[in-house]
Amino acid sequence: MPIRPENASRYPADWQARSSFVRVYRSGGKCEWCGAANGEPHPITGSKVVLTAAHVYDRRPEAASLLNLAALCQRCHNRHDAGDRARGKAVRSGSVQDYDRRLASRKAEAKAQRRLF
Ligand SMILES: [Zn+2]
Repeated sequence: MPIRPENASRYPADWQARSSFVRVYRSGGKCEWCGAANGEPHPITGSKVVLTAAHVYDRRPEAASLLNLAALCQRCHNRHDAGDRARGKAVRSGSVQDYDRRLASRKAEAKAQRRLF
């Protein structure tokens, strides 16, 4: 997820170094979840892969421990952030209560379906 201007001050001063370490050195230039190579066409989407540093467990910008960061391709990063992005959009548009109600309903439905198997 791109850094929103209002959140920029919440990232540590050495964010660029942390991000580079994860994307370039630790990952070896490959998505840490699907293995897609940076700069190459993605094996599923065909888009040129651009690795970014994602917050995995704790999504707050200040949670920049290397254990909380992963080098991800656009596909994995977008899928990981999809829920947060949808909720953030709902917050900004003033419809977050509707969003949370729909999410709770979907979770209850999924839980009920799991009981069937
Ligand atoms: Zn990936």
